[in-house]
Amino acid sequence: MSLLDDFLRAFAENGFLIRFKRYFSWTGYEQWKMKIGGFKPQWIVIHHSWSPDNNMLRDWDGIKKFHTSWRYQGDIVTEQKAHELMGQGKMVLSPWNDVGYQFGIEEINGHVEVLNGRDIGEVGAHAVGFNDKSIGICLIGNYDKEVPSNGKLLILASLCRQLQREFDIPRDHVIGHRDTFVALGKAVEKTCPGVKFDMDLFRERLTDIKTT
Ligand SMILES: [Zn+2]
Repeated sequence: MSLLDDFLRAFAENGFLIRFKRYFSWTGYEQWKMKIGGFKPQWIVIHHSWSPDNNMLRDWDGIKKFHTSWRYQGDIVTEQKAHELMGQGKMVLSPWNDVGYQFGIEEINGHVEVLNGRDIGEVGAHAVGFNDKSIGICLIGNYDKEVPSNGKLLILASLCRQLQREFDIPRDHVIGHRDTFVALGKAVEKTCPGVKFDMDLFRERLTDIKTT
């Protein structure tokens, strides 16, 4: 009996348990369709933050702050410093409008929470080649080092199932960041969402949406 079996039993018994910090309304889907440039997601791409949960610097809010700041070699720099570095011909990242992912999943005060990022249908900044056709979900944690907790997997599966149903996404289109390289025929550059995150096993237990 695997951990996944345990969480799937819990899932079957409890149904959808997602606790949205900012409640996501599915009527947003209609608004999304009206949005210029909005796209229908065909893929779900799963990431990890590569940092332990309950690390304030690299939790969801920390990642959000990082993505919306000037960045140089993985550190936040002031705008003044950024211009100084650019003047020296250094590679500096300018602030993004929002965190690169559509959702984050994090344990906060003992509860696993689903946190909103970019709008669904808005081009993300999380997986090259997939940003304009996917929903990016980031699990806070380092799953190169540890297996994701039952609680996180349960909530992630619930979220994936809801999104699959809403957008007719088949389960073989629920992939890890590392799988995007394979799909694009490129060398795999990342282990994301972690070597201890078994995507095949996770995917097996998702809804198999039949697309026509
Ligand atoms: Zn990733």
